[in-house]
Amino acid sequence: MAVDGYVMQLQPFSVNDGNGIRTTIFLAGCPLRCKWCSNPEGLIRSPLVGWYERRCTGCGACSSVCPKRIGCNLNQNREECSACGRCSKVCPTGARTNMVSLLDADTILSDLQRDEIFYRYSGGGVTFSGGEATAQPALLDYLSSKLYDRNISMTLESCGYFEFEKVKDILARMDLIFMDLKLFDDCKHKQYTGVSNQCILNNIRHLAEISAAVIIRIPVIGGVNNDEQNIRLSARYVHDNLPKAKMELLPYHTLGTVKYEAIGMPYATEDFYRPTPEELEHLKNIVRAEGVELEDFR
Ligand code: SF4
Ligand code: SF4
Ligand code: SF4
Repeated sequence: MAVDGYVMQLQPFSVNDGNGIRTTIFLAGCPLRCKWCSNPEGLIRSPLVGWYERRCTGCGACSSVCPKRIGCNLNQNREECSACGRCSKVCPTGARTNMVSLLDADTILSDLQRDEIFYRYSGGGVTFSGGEATAQPALLDYLSSKLYDRNISMTLESCGYFEFEKVKDILARMDLIFMDLKLFDDCKHKQYTGVSNQCILNNIRHLAEISAAVIIRIPVIGGVNNDEQNIRLSARYVHDNLPKAKMELLPYHTLGTVKYEAIGMPYATEDFYRPTPEELEHLKNIVRAEGVELEDFR
């Protein structure tokens, strides 16, 4: 049976998403709505075309091939757009670009095969990221089982919000799992991500049943979760419930803001800020004091 799915990007030669040289596959769809999200194009499972105004020369090549006769400012007529991608093919500057595409799983696999030699020589492999990779379980299952059969090392980056039993076999094929714990306080978790953290906390415990190495990540967002109490309680929970896990603290960044413009979506105006290196080191010391080892892939 043919399997396909919605893919944001295949990023070759990635070195921050696990060991060695990797290809990171960003799968669209996410059950969370974090107010600081830097991948807004990956929230929904459907094709999406973006328009980067700053790259647009106004040449008109896009409108000449558009079946809906949409002009160069895509965001003025976004509701008309069928995301057919014809404009992206002819745009000379990359101002129009496919941000989410429907791809066939076997096409993805043949793309990955090209870089297999780099994975082998660097101790790398393939990383599934998102959006949320587990939001497309059929595609993830198909890709991971084929790669497992080819003995390619796999890593999963997840927000942790999934039904464990439904994806347990997929998780068991991974060598490394990064899982987020954004906020320990459930009210704040709901306020900032739109969902409760109970499912995520339970899944952290369940990961003890899986042989993969685990790194629990906290994206440290100034003004949201950078208080000592949040970091201490999170590290304590990890130590008590998943002793084999390490942790990683990732400082907030604003690299995704330009994508909001490209898809015509307003960016949250909240006062988030990036923690200073000194503050981050202080928070890392709190994690260490709770008996949890730290990793740093960035
Ligand atoms: S979990 Fe990640 S992709 Fe999903 S909304 Fe939050 S930041 Fe965005
Ligand atoms: S083809 Fe690209 S550069 Fe030309 S008008 Fe359209 S978006 Fe702008
Ligand atoms: S994706 Fe298709 S419908 Fe949308 S603007 Fe481009 S050509 Fe027109």
